[in-house]
Amino acid sequence: MTRKVRTRIAPSPTGFLHLGTARTALYSWAYARHFGGEFVLRIEDTDVARSTQESVDQIMASMKWLGLDFDEGPIYQMQRLGRYSEVIDQMLAAGTAYRCYCTPQELDEMREAQRAHGEKTHYDGRWRPEPGKVLPAPPEGVAPVVRFRNPPDGAVTWDDLVKGPITISNREIDDLIIVRPDGVPTYNFCVVVDDWDMTITHVFRGDEHVNNTPWQINIFNALGAPLPLFGHVPVILGDDGQKLSKRRGAVSVTAYEENGYLPQAMLNYLSRLGWSHGDEELFSREQFVQWFDGQHLSKSPAQWDVAKLNWVNAHYIKQATDAELSVLVAAQLQRRGIEADAQGALVGICALFKDRCATTVELANWAAMYFADVQATAEDLAAHVTDAVKPALITLGDKLANVEWGKPGISAAIKETLTAHQLRMPQLAHAVRVLVTGRTQTPSVDAVLELFTAGVVLARLRSA
Ligand code: GLU
Repeated sequence: MTRKVRTRIAPSPTGFLHLGTARTALYSWAYARHFGGEFVLRIEDTDVARSTQESVDQIMASMKWLGLDFDEGPIYQMQRLGRYSEVIDQMLAAGTAYRCYCTPQELDEMREAQRAHGEKTHYDGRWRPEPGKVLPAPPEGVAPVVRFRNPPDGAVTWDDLVKGPITISNREIDDLIIVRPDGVPTYNFCVVVDDWDMTITHVFRGDEHVNNTPWQINIFNALGAPLPLFGHVPVILGDDGQKLSKRRGAVSVTAYEENGYLPQAMLNYLSRLGWSHGDEELFSREQFVQWFDGQHLSKSPAQWDVAKLNWVNAHYIKQATDAELSVLVAAQLQRRGIEADAQGALVGICALFKDRCATTVELANWAAMYFADVQATAEDLAAHVTDAVKPALITLGDKLANVEWGKPGISAAIKETLTAHQLRMPQLAHAVRVLVTGRTQTPSVDAVLELFTAGVVLARLRSA
C-alpha cells in the first residue's frame, strides 16, 4: 500500500530561519502540496542551552511570510522526551541499544591509542554486548550513555532523491550515542522516532546531514519502522564560492523581508536555486507546486546571486498593485521614523517609482522625500541652482501658487516660465529637482511634483 505523502521541516530554534533551511522547507512543502499530502513543522529543541523562544517565533514568522502553511505542528521535541525514553527502553530490552560507561577520559585514551597505531578513531565496542562476551561490572558514579548497536556487517544503501544511490559499509559506522549522560536523547535518534511516529514519507534536508542518514536508516530498521525516502539538497554558496554564512551577508529570511524583498520573489528565487523546470525563471507559487515533483533537483551546489534575486524581486514589484506596495513602503518608512498613510499619496508615489526599484527599500528611498525634509548636496546646489536660474524659480513659484494642482497645471506653469526666461527645460528642471527632491535624476518633473502638496513644493522652491 502506498503511504500518504507526509513531509516535514525540522529546524533547530538556535537562530533565525536560515535561507538553506527555508529552501528545504519550500521543497518539502511543495512536495506535500503537489501530491495532496501533508506538511509538518517540528521544532528540534533538544539543544536546550542554545534553543530560544525568540528563534521559534522568528522561524514561525518566516514560514508565514513565505506562505508555507503546515498541517501539523509545531511539534516540540522537548515535549516528547517520554516517548523517546519509552523507545530507548524497548531498544535496551531488545538488545539494539546498550549502556556504555566509558568516561570521557577513557574515550580520549582509546582514540589516542588508535591514532598511535595509525588507525581511524572509533568506539572500540568495549560495552557492546556480544554473544558469549562477559561485560565488566558497571563502575560506580559514572552516568552511562546509551549507544545504538549498529549492525556489524553489510552496508546501508538508499536511493537518494537528489544524489542517487548511496552505499555506506557498516564497518565505517560507529555505535552512535543516542542518549547523553544527562539523559537527553540525541538528534539522530529523536529524528528517527519522530519521522516514524509522524509517518513521514519523504525527508528533504541539507547536504550536511547525508552522513547521518546511514545511522538513521539502521535505527529505523532496528525499530522495524518503515523507511522514508531521503533527498539531500546541496549547500548554497555565496558569491565568493564559499558556503553561505552570516559572515558573508544576510542568511536569514527575516533579513530579506526587512531589506525589501517580496515573499513571492523569495519563493520564486529560492525554489529555483537548486531546482529547475525547463527554462522557467519566473513562476507563481501555484505553478511551483504544480511543477515540483522532486525531480530536477540539482546535484551541485547553488550559487547565491544577489543580482538575479534583485531582478526577480523587481519583476514582482512591477506586478504588485500600488496599494499592496504602499502598505510595504509605509512599513519601510516607519522603520526610519517616517509616518506615511498607506492609503494616501503613497499609492501614487509607488505607481510612479516602482518601475525603477528592485526592492521596497529603494521605493522607500524615493518615497521618503515626500514625507521628510530633503537636503541636496552643496555640489548639486552650486551646479544647478545658479544665478541664471534663480529668477525663473521665483516666477515658477508664483505661477504654481495659482494653478489648479495637478500635472496639466504644473506642466503649463513650467512651460510659461521657460518662455518668459528664455531657458531650456533641463536647466529649470534640474534646479527644481535639486531643490524639491534633493536629487538630480527623477522621473518627469511634473509627475514628481504633482504628488507633493503645493505648499511643500513652494516652500522648497523658495528656499533657493
Ligand atoms: N534540526 C536539523 C537541522 O536544523 C534537522 C535535520 C533534518 O531535517 O533531519 O538541520
